[in-house]
Amino acid sequence: MSKRIDVNDLNIYYGTVKAVDQVTMTIEPRSATALIGPSGCGKSTFLRALNRMHEVVPGARIEGSVHLDGVNLYSAGIDPVVVRRTVGMVFQRPNPFPTMSIFDNVAAGLKLNGLRDKKLLAERVETSLRAASLWTEVRDRLHKPGGGLSGGQQQRLCIARAIAVEPEVLLMDEPCSALDPISTLAIEDLIGELKSRYTIVIVTHNMQQAARVSDRTAFFNVSGTGQPGRLVEMGDTRAIFDSPGQKATEDYISGRFG
Ligand code: ADP
Repeated sequence: MSKRIDVNDLNIYYGTVKAVDQVTMTIEPRSATALIGPSGCGKSTFLRALNRMHEVVPGARIEGSVHLDGVNLYSAGIDPVVVRRTVGMVFQRPNPFPTMSIFDNVAAGLKLNGLRDKKLLAERVETSLRAASLWTEVRDRLHKPGGGLSGGQQQRLCIARAIAVEPEVLLMDEPCSALDPISTLAIEDLIGELKSRYTIVIVTHNMQQAARVSDRTAFFNVSGTGQPGRLVEMGDTRAIFDSPGQKATEDYISGRFG
């Protein structure tokens, strides 16, 4: 579990429009990397290129490479469905299957992978819910619908669902933006635990959150309307926040934009 990601010369397009320009970075395993920067600088687009979700948009394409422990995810013969299982994703809004039971929400991916043994399924569901810090809250209502949980619980359910299929990497796109402060802290604590086992990449617009949860931070910026986003700098989170190398980074994290 937990693999290193090497991104090389990545250009990302929507049709003829370039959204992300020439990004090269290494994302370390067993740690959390935060992607920060102003709205529209390509953070979500970049994140979705890490598990080949970008290409589901018609006309979307990329140039360059993304290697997961040396394997280019964009090589011919690599199945994007397998990539998305290996590199899981949690979205801004919790998106459990609302009418499906809590149990089945977590078991769905396992069943798709061919796991049929009821005892094994139950074990994996419990392990995943425990790993997502949700087990004690739902153990007595596993067969109730996932949509009946609070927003914060639903987001932890989505994390349990992502973990159940044993990914190497967890991508999180502003996973707390729809949550209240207490649920946000619960997710941040959870990220703190999960990063010892997974490679985590999190997009966040919340500077305190980036500082609290991440080991490394990458600052993206866009130089003007219609311009693609670029990676300005990346480094240890403390260094990026305490002594950024670029003025644009300092302006952004101190709240002075433009
Ligand atoms: P961020 O996550 O940093 O706010 P995005 O990755 O969402 O930035 O967007 C980067 C750029 O790509 C923006 O200019 C945005 O308008 C454009 N973009 C995002 N999604 C699409 C899409 N589905 N089709 C066309 N352009 C898009």
